Amino acid sequence: MPYSAPIADYAYMFDHVVGFSQVAETERFSEASPDMVTAILGEAGRMCEDKLAPLQREGDLNGAYLENGVVRTPPGFAEGYAAIREGGWLGISADPEYGGMGLPMAMMSAVNEMMSGACMALQLNPLLTQGQIEALEHHASDEIKALYLPKLISGEWNGTMNLTEPQAGSDVGALSTRAEANGDGTYAITGQKIYITWGDGDFMENVCHLVLARLPDGVPGPKGISLFLVPKYIPDADGKPGKANALKVVSLEHKLGVHGSPTCVMQYDGATGWMVGPEHGGMAAMFTMMNNARLGVGVQGIGVAEAAYQHALAYAQDRKQGRTPVKDGKGTIIEHADVRRMLATMKADIFAARAIGLACAVAIDMGNATGDKEWQARGAFLTPIAKAFGSETGMRVAELGVQVHGGMGFIEETGAAQFSRDVRVTAIYEGTNGIQAMDLAGRKLMDGGEAGYALIEEIAKQAEAARPKQPRMAGAVWDAVEALREATEWMVSQGDVTERFAGAVPFLMGWARVLGAHYHLRAACAEEGDGPRTRLARFYIQRLLPEYAAQLAHATQGAGDLYALTDDDLGAA
Ligand SMILES: Cc1cc2nc3c(=O)[nH]c(=O)nc-3n(C[C@H](O)[C@H](O)[C@H](O)COP(=O)(O)OP(=O)(O)OC[C@H]3O[C@@H](n4cnc5c(N)ncnc54)[C@H](O)[C@@H]3O)c2cc1C
Repeated sequence: MPYSAPIADYAYMFDHVVGFSQVAETERFSEASPDMVTAILGEAGRMCEDKLAPLQREGDLNGAYLENGVVRTPPGFAEGYAAIREGGWLGISADPEYGGMGLPMAMMSAVNEMMSGACMALQLNPLLTQGQIEALEHHASDEIKALYLPKLISGEWNGTMNLTEPQAGSDVGALSTRAEANGDGTYAITGQKIYITWGDGDFMENVCHLVLARLPDGVPGPKGISLFLVPKYIPDADGKPGKANALKVVSLEHKLGVHGSPTCVMQYDGATGWMVGPEHGGMAAMFTMMNNARLGVGVQGIGVAEAAYQHALAYAQDRKQGRTPVKDGKGTIIEHADVRRMLATMKADIFAARAIGLACAVAIDMGNATGDKEWQARGAFLTPIAKAFGSETGMRVAELGVQVHGGMGFIEETGAAQFSRDVRVTAIYEGTNGIQAMDLAGRKLMDGGEAGYALIEEIAKQAEAARPKQPRMAGAVWDAVEALREATEWMVSQGDVTERFAGAVPFLMGWARVLGAHYHLRAACAEEGDGPRTRLARFYIQRLLPEYAAQLAHATQGAGDLYALTDDDLGAA
């Protein structure tokens, strides 16, 4: 089934919901006029529809495999990647000094969403490179920037991110990969990394690995970790891929989904690397990449959700079953109340997740363009919500997509199941959603809740302003945001983080529910009369928003009852 890029939805979001005009008014992003945004998104959308979407099923059926040490990629992926490169989509937000377009992150997020909706397995490749570009822009030496950035931005070379080891997953600080100075400014990197996305491929001229490792004097834990750039081929004097480095792909993981994306076990045997950022300051440098990728992963969830929705909608408009309550209808299942409920839930949640993701990108853009601390704090506050809610929405929507298809949802040919399998990983990588929620309830409240309360004020103010036009919806949002304020106050007042962490996931989801309502209300208020955006907002606010009450009640229980349940109670041996 074809994928259709949701350009009109983006245009409405940018114009009426997430305040993109503020970004375009800054000097840094003054080129991002409405006409330019429409042209760029339109062009990217066409590429996704024509070139990437046909690869979606191909990548699933003929996944990447390892052949005599070479990673073979699915048929068509090389051509799809060439289309991404030629469009310049890797460097959309990158520094123009090195060949990037220098456009806002909000536009990059929209393009990334469309690419992942069309073919997530392939889109993972540019996503990692984009993260590496940002990390190098912020932390690399001028020499490294001059050599690597033009190649990465043009897509000639690719970037990966190497954190995970068998004993070091969420606990990155437990890693054991070693780095030793070679005495010539380079380092010898030795160790094994697992789950490395696009660790290699047969259409990539060079693969640049950003690897976390510990120097001999690095203390145990995250504070002793440094970051190294380790290319597959060491660039020669002309900056061309030269001698092969001492690294290899040992094997590929067999996965539930994204079969087209090679997930590699990498072995480094004294491989030559260059340090990025200061000694023992690797985690901070890697965090630049991870923050970028966190928003990017939330956006992947939304992209897959959109594609799953489009599939389910088409099926529901075609499949006939039983007598429907619609007089003179076509008798298709879209006319059944429960199928309508599922489709409306999918559409309303996609809107909410997309608005949260774009609002996060707008805040990051404003922080970058103005240096304003409040915008920066807002971007940081929204990032874990955008990651976790975007990926949860991807999973929920894809799951509902299977249900709308009935038995055909369980049969691979329709593609509904693939969305569900592919998107599942978005809640796991780039920090599991549990880790995202702990970040929100812990680190992101270390300012005493200031960034959160600023958002709460904004939501309350907008609900107040919306009362004359939409009294019922505005009242519901007002009640919800007051409950959110109380829950946030409760979190901030807990000195023991375990009390916070015990309710961190429902706290994050409560935040997402309320933010989603806030953006739906904005969309409704910007519309003349009782149009489609208002009707969708009403559905969301009446039926989905009330989940906040249960989520916030759950969020503020503390840890006592969890630990009152003993290991024995849980059935542990
Ligand atoms: C397809 C795929 C691609 C990947 N790509 C990459 C990549 O390119 N580069 C890379 O470096 N890594 C990559 N990863 C690894 C990924 O980031 C990790 O799987 C993830 O960070 C979780 O680590 P783990 O698998 O060791 O799980 P664990 O850390 O063992 O977690 C298991 C469970 O325990 C929970 N948990 C762990 N610690 C805590 C805590 N302190 N408090 C509360 N709960 C906790 C987790 O939330 C989770 O539910 C990829 C993984 C997959 C599956």
